[in-house]
Amino acid sequence: MKLTVLGCLGAYPYAGQGTTSYLLQTDDFNLLLDAGSSTLLELEKELDPLDLDAVILSHYHHDHIADLGVLQYYWQLFPTEEPKPLLPIYGHTEDEFHFNDLSMENVSEGRPYFESEELKLGPFLVTFMKTIHPVPCYAMRFVEVKTGAVFVFTGDSGYLEGFNQFAKEADLFLADTYLFNGHEHHKAHFTAQEAGSFAKTARVKKLVLTHLPQQGDLAVLREQAQAAAGTIPVDLAAPHKKFEI
Ligand SMILES: [Zn+2]
Ligand SMILES: [Zn+2]
Repeated sequence: MKLTVLGCLGAYPYAGQGTTSYLLQTDDFNLLLDAGSSTLLELEKELDPLDLDAVILSHYHHDHIADLGVLQYYWQLFPTEEPKPLLPIYGHTEDEFHFNDLSMENVSEGRPYFESEELKLGPFLVTFMKTIHPVPCYAMRFVEVKTGAVFVFTGDSGYLEGFNQFAKEADLFLADTYLFNGHEHHKAHFTAQEAGSFAKTARVKKLVLTHLPQQGDLAVLREQAQAAAGTIPVDLAAPHKKFEI
């Protein structure tokens, strides 16, 4: 599978860059993972948005769903000769208002996922773990059935011991790192040291920092995570950066 970063800032867009959104692809499947601000514009640079097979959302904070509505309008209004299939949008059901918004007549269909159930989603098997966050949010572990490759996305999360197991031996660990060291055990996000330490304990193959802060030196953020991660390579997400998994 291949991961392409579309947006990787936390909270709000800044200086030409959008918030959380990724494209996860195999040879024949295109999955949009979160849909933060500027998703649609960045997505158009990678593929025809109508070639998406599904969307999956970690949670309903604005920086993860800001472009969902305009993506639905695109599916509704972009002219095509054939009628378009419904776009499946997966989300949790613990926020009825937002879950109901995933369905739009003749456009998209909200589909629930649950922490207790493995989800078969195209070429992936996906499992979920509820994170530490002010609203319900889920981390996701994707296994590509054909290759066995594993990709783990934290969603948004404060320090949570469970990641040592949930991220175990992942080929790529994409971790919310909104905070520099000194803010450990925050209620919503990891610090760089925490991201690095989970990566090390879980023995992942590669750590990528995302949900990045607008202020501060990202080279320092990466160094702080690297210091905790030991020999595990640590990289920073950036728009249109691609990772083979
Ligand atoms: Zn966020
Ligand atoms: Zn959030």
